[in-house]
Amino acid sequence: MSPEPANCPICGAAAERLRAAPRGYRYTCPSCGSFHISARALGCRPGIPASAREDIRRLRAYGHLPYVDLTRDGVSISPGRN
Ligand SMILES: [Zn+2]
Repeated sequence: MSPEPANCPICGAAAERLRAAPRGYRYTCPSCGSFHISARALGCRPGIPASAREDIRRLRAYGHLPYVDLTRDGVSISPGRN
């Protein structure tokens, strides 16, 4: 499977994405870097908080592949598996 062009759901920049298991996408954004996002978190746009960008940056700085998901408490960003 090859990446498809898509705007980054975090910052809106022109990025690309790949389908990722189990459901969702792996985005590669020139500004945010690489992260996973679940289909339901994508569906909550534009509800992703502005702080998500900083959370992703921080997790990446520690070597994680951030995972953006939607829970009952709202959007959560956790350290995913590399
Ligand atoms: Zn971005």
